[in-house]
Amino acid sequence: MSSKKKAYDVIIIGSGSVGTPTAYFLAKEGMKVLVLDESASSGQGQNKAAIGGVRATHSDPAKIEMCGQSLRIFSKWKEETGTDIEWKKGGYCFPVYRDNEEGVLKSILPIQKKHGLEIDWYGPDEVARIVPGVNMNGLHGGTFSPNDGQVSPLLASESFNDEARKLGAEFRFRESVVDLVIEGDGDSKAVVGVVTSKGGKRTEHRAGAVLNAAGASASEICAMAGLDIPITPDSHEAGITAPVKQFLGPLVVDLRPGPEGRTANFYFGQNAQGQVIFCYTPIEKFYGMDRRCTSEFMPVIARRLVDLIPRLKNMTVRRLWRGLYPMTVDGVPVVGQDPCIDGFYLGIGMCGQGFMMGPGIGLNLSSLIAKGKPVVSQEVFDLLSPTRDYTCGEELLK
Ligand SMILES: Cc1cc2nc3c(=O)[nH]c(=O)nc-3n(C[C@H](O)[C@H](O)[C@H](O)COP(=O)(O)OP(=O)(O)OC[C@H]3O[C@@H](n4cnc5c(N)ncnc54)[C@H](O)[C@@H]3O)c2cc1C
Repeated sequence: MSSKKKAYDVIIIGSGSVGTPTAYFLAKEGMKVLVLDESASSGQGQNKAAIGGVRATHSDPAKIEMCGQSLRIFSKWKEETGTDIEWKKGGYCFPVYRDNEEGVLKSILPIQKKHGLEIDWYGPDEVARIVPGVNMNGLHGGTFSPNDGQVSPLLASESFNDEARKLGAEFRFRESVVDLVIEGDGDSKAVVGVVTSKGGKRTEHRAGAVLNAAGASASEICAMAGLDIPITPDSHEAGITAPVKQFLGPLVVDLRPGPEGRTANFYFGQNAQGQVIFCYTPIEKFYGMDRRCTSEFMPVIARRLVDLIPRLKNMTVRRLWRGLYPMTVDGVPVVGQDPCIDGFYLGIGMCGQGFMMGPGIGLNLSSLIAKGKPVVSQEVFDLLSPTRDYTCGEELLK
């Protein structure tokens, strides 16, 4: 094995939705950062599968606060860096047709408002104004949060990478982490580096801290530290149309199960380029790492889209793809320090919301690593702890 003597303050495993912004914030803290990714460039894992929705309107306080920080970062990015990542402040709207969804959404309004979110319940006419052309048949109303929005995951990833490099962060691609270097034993173990493989050559990189931000492969990295945290990838498909004139402000979420019996919720929006971008959650999960598209997706989502907004019927679909949600058992990410191994940090289990949480989590992890405490209160941060009670969970996923 060739041994690279160069030492870093922090090594990040994975240049995805979490790893790339974390590299930027750590470099901003003045830390010497190395990011390793087995792909050819930043954002080639699940980051590029995301449709770019960013909302703070969750029910879990930690997700609310992390995404609130992400919203501030995304919305000011152009002003601060000069790079346009296609931030579109159109809000999020959840149109409601059944008592069940009305009850769930209304029940979480108090906690959302307590955390300072601008969100309210609106009647059917107001929802029709917010989502022009929405099917009024049986519409109860819905929630709308005007400060949420959308960003291009491709542009954001590239820009976090560029800005992190400007601040001195180093990125190495097509280099896979195959082991952790751990010293000590018993209660005094510490991670001091990683071993990588590139073209059959093994290299050791040394650092004071290592962050696992390996997305769908995060459990494998945890296992290298003897840590058992199940992150189970399941597949979701998405699509995008040709651009049309802007007609839809918010990202729209329909929480109902589909009539065809295969789909749970689905969501879509019109991005800054005018393209409609969409995906759904299958009721029966497709577990595993297979990212090939199925032929089931388009006929099902097309019916659901046209049923909700009939004027979408003439859109031309340009491209479909499939990606993975790295799921935890309770639908909440696992973020913080490994309690057993000094210097080993986790930013994993992002489920279906890693793009929107990435910058907020990166900001907090960088503060934790550089200054010993997160930006949000310790009480809120601990809701994401690897040692938390996993039986609670996110209301909108139940
Ligand atoms: C169809 C679809 C739509 C979505 N829409 C949204 C949305 O609108 N908003 C939202 O917030 N989220 C959305 N998501 C979810 C989001 O894409 C994920 O939650 C997020 O990308 C996960 O981020 P991550 O950093 O954990 O993983 P990734 O972005 O996948 O990054 C992990 C990186 O680690 C690297 N890696 C793994 N193992 C190793 C190793 N051993 N050595 C080196 N590198 C390694 C991978 O190559 C990868 O680049 C969507 C997902 C899908 C599939």
